[in-house]
Amino acid sequence: CGIVGYIGRRDVAPLLLEGLQRLEYRGYDSAGIVITSPKATGLKLVKAKGRVRDLEARVPKRFNGTTGIAHTRWATHGAPSDENAHPHLSADGLVAVVHNGIIDNASELRVRLEAEGVVFASETDTEVLTHLIARSQADTLEEKVRQTLKSIEGTYGIAVMHADFNDRIVVARNGSPVVLGIGEKEMFVASDVAALVAHTRQIVTLDDGEMATLKADDFRTYTTEGSTTTATPTTVEWEA
Ligand code: GLU
Repeated sequence: CGIVGYIGRRDVAPLLLEGLQRLEYRGYDSAGIVITSPKATGLKLVKAKGRVRDLEARVPKRFNGTTGIAHTRWATHGAPSDENAHPHLSADGLVAVVHNGIIDNASELRVRLEAEGVVFASETDTEVLTHLIARSQADTLEEKVRQTLKSIEGTYGIAVMHADFNDRIVVARNGSPVVLGIGEKEMFVASDVAALVAHTRQIVTLDDGEMATLKADDFRTYTTEGSTTTATPTTVEWEA
């Protein structure tokens, strides 16, 4: 339902929780957040069924980081619950994904992955993405995500983090909106400009079949086939 992400130098959790609150008007049944920082060794995750304030109540005191992605879920596959809330992690805990949309071939992919020994932690269609990305043999996070997207059918706006590639967030769009917010030494991503306009008015809207890599100091866009696309930020008008 709602996605918001950030990579930069500010403390990320309060920023993302505020972003989620700006997306609350769309409706949702659960929420979650995963964060890291350049010096961190892994990902830190908190999720909760219910409101953003229920999530906030679960966030520990020292939950600091400078990179993160967060989600408000509107359940399509699997009941509203803590486990089914996004972000979803791979079995090794290295990959985190938030997803809007529906993976149509999720049950086939799940059967195949379970036959290979993968243990699922949720009932969602989304979780297959985390395992496919984690099991990809590709060298870069971009290529791991690209390979994974080739094997799935359906709609998605996704944001992906990987503990071994923690200088970046990789995002992709097919049928579910993804907008980038371009800041000064910081980058934002969201499913809706409403989550970004408090921080930047410089917006890049991804097209279907387009992906992006966000780093604190720069971003680039390309197709799911890997060819570079031009993305010139436009200034969005917004009544505060
Ligand atoms: N299909 C996914 C799920 O049920 C994503 C739902 C959404 O767009 O919030 O978890």
